[in-house]
Formats: sequence, structure tokens, C-alpha cells
Amino acid sequence: MTKIDLFGLFAEEIATAVAPYGLEKYRGRQIAEWLYQRFVRNFDDMTNLSRATREVLAAHFILGRVELQAAQHAGNGQTDKFLLALGDGLAVETVLMRHNYGNSVCVSSQVGCGMGCSFCASTINGLVRNLTAGEMLAQVLFCCQQLGDTNRPDSIVIMGSGEPLANYEQVLRFIRLCHENYCLNLSYRAVTLSTAGVVPGIDRLAAEGLPVTLAISLHAPNDALRSKLMPINDRYPLAALLAAADRYATQTGRRVTYEYILIAGVNDRDENARELAALLRGRLANVNLIPINSVVESGLLRPEAPRMEQFLSVLRANHVNATIRREMGSDIKAACGQLRHAVLLGDGPESN
Ligand code: SAH
Repeated sequence: MTKIDLFGLFAEEIATAVAPYGLEKYRGRQIAEWLYQRFVRNFDDMTNLSRATREVLAAHFILGRVELQAAQHAGNGQTDKFLLALGDGLAVETVLMRHNYGNSVCVSSQVGCGMGCSFCASTINGLVRNLTAGEMLAQVLFCCQQLGDTNRPDSIVIMGSGEPLANYEQVLRFIRLCHENYCLNLSYRAVTLSTAGVVPGIDRLAAEGLPVTLAISLHAPNDALRSKLMPINDRYPLAALLAAADRYATQTGRRVTYEYILIAGVNDRDENARELAALLRGRLANVNLIPINSVVESGLLRPEAPRMEQFLSVLRANHVNATIRREMGSDIKAACGQLRHAVLLGDGPESN
């Protein structure tokens, strides 16, 4: 008989799972607090349960965890990137960012990715598998432990490897778990979900009625260029994508973030900025300009700083809300699948 993993279950589900062994209903919440707030990973450490109960539980259940496989720390000491091994030996990347306005964790939603974007290292070997809600939560709790005293992230961004809307049920379950007061008690507004543009998933998320922040990876101001960079654009072209984003903004009252990677000579000209401004005019939108992290395989490079500033000023002159994302991780390849890929290729970093 395979043992059931309690890590990643809601308190009520834990209560139901352990009820056949004579545990009262309130024990579900107690166990959830051990798992999600006190980082306990052994039944033996759950000291408000009797020894006999702990033994019965250990005989029938497991408590899933992630193990550190490699770590990189950025020079400025603000960004840590972790390669975390899952129960089956596969690994995903998680990034902990310490901003002066709070701590943020960047979570992976899949091992690998099936989206095929030309600039992204996560997709080089395709999709391997979806992560479970428990595996996503385990990434966050690993970072919580690194935070020591402060112990809780102020925000979570689902922007690691994978396409979250291609793993919809588990991602939603993860977001709802984080919100529970026996878990992180995190407000939905503190969660950002980034998508390559899966239109049906955006509508489904809007219908949940949760004020989660939606980020859309736009990266190009017209279909011809976007289709070259992102195959998903052939399925859901810009008009359909922006219409879905508008519905999301209307239904949730939340301003949508548009991510736009700046790639030298590809999408960084003034005319691209003007076209982008025209596309977003009148929309409830923030544009986040991201200097591309060069991935050797793709040969794509970031523009010089003055070019990026000029792109930004054209957007602003056209009344678009825009910022250049502050760089935190490029010196440790913290972006997007680059650490996992390096380790897979055998030229990974030393753990430190
Ligand atoms: N699949 C989702 C979430 C993961 S990617 C999405 O596409 O949004 C998270 C963000 O990192 C996206 O905006 C993605 O386009 C961006 N990204 C991917 N590769 C990058 C690179 N080499 N440099 C900078 N940003 C990159």
C-alpha cells in the first residue's frame, strides 16, 4: 500500500485522512500548523500528539519535502537561487528575493515547460511534468526557513519554470493553501501569476473571483514578431489575449501587468515602443520592461542601458505606466531555468 502524502493537503483533508485512525477532527488543523507554520517534517516532532498516534500516522502517511541540491547567491546578497530536489529526484528552481519593501519568492509550477518560447531556458528540454500544490508550497516554505526570524514572504510570484495556467488545478490549490490562516495567511493580492498567454486559463482564473495579480508575458507589440518569439501566439494571438486581459481587469478590478523582455535588435526600437503604447492605450496596464537574461543557446542579447531608457521614455511619453525591472539575479543566472539547465549539463555552480 502506498502511503498518502499529507503535505499539500488542506486541514479538512488532513482531518479526513487521519480520521480512520481515531484522530479527532481538530487534529487536521494541528497537523497542518506543524507542517506549514513550524516546518516540521517528522511525525515524531508533533509533540501535541501522543506517541502511539505519531507511530500510527508514520505507518500510514508520509510528509513530502524538497531537498536542497544547489544554491547560488547574488553578489548583492539580496537574491538566493535554489535548485530543489523533489521526491522523485527531479529538480526545480526557486528564487528568494529580499527587496527593501519585503521578501518575495519566485515559484516554479512545472518541471521544464512546454511553451517553447525562443528566449527561455526552462523550455529547452520541453515539459517534464506538472508540480503538485504541495511541491509548490514546499518551495515557499524552504525559503521561509531561509528567512529565519521574518519567516514569511510578503509576496509570491509564480514566475519560475513552467506555465502555471497549463497546470491550473494544482496552481489554484497552491494559491488557496497559501491563503489559509494555518498556512501563510497570504492575501490573494500578494500573489502574481505570470502566463505566456493561455486565454482559456485567464478566463477561468477571472471566474474564481480572487484578486490575484495577473502578469502577461507580452514581449512583442504585433503578432508577426510575437509568433516568432512565442509559439503560443499562433493559438491565442494578441487581440484574443488582450481581450482576455481586459475581461480579467474588469472582473477583478486588478490592473494587469505586461512583461516585455527587451532583446537587442529584436523588439527594442522606438517604433516597437510606439506600437506597444498604441496596443495598450486606454487599458488598465502596467508594463514591466525586463532586460533579457542571455541564454547562450538562443544567442539573444540585452540592449545597452541607454536604449532601454529610451524605450521606457517613449512609452511614458505615450502615457503608458512602465518601469524597468530592477535586476536582482542575472549574475547568478537566476532567471528562468538557467540554473537547472546548467546542472543538467554538468557545469553547474558549486553549492555555497
Ligand atoms: N510561463 C509563464 C511563467 C514563467 S516565465 C510566462 O510565460 O509568463 C516568467 C517570465 O520570465 C516570463 O515573462 C518570461 O517570458 C520571462 N523570461 C523567460 N526567459 C527569459 C530570459 N531569458 N530573460 C528574461 N526573462 C525571461
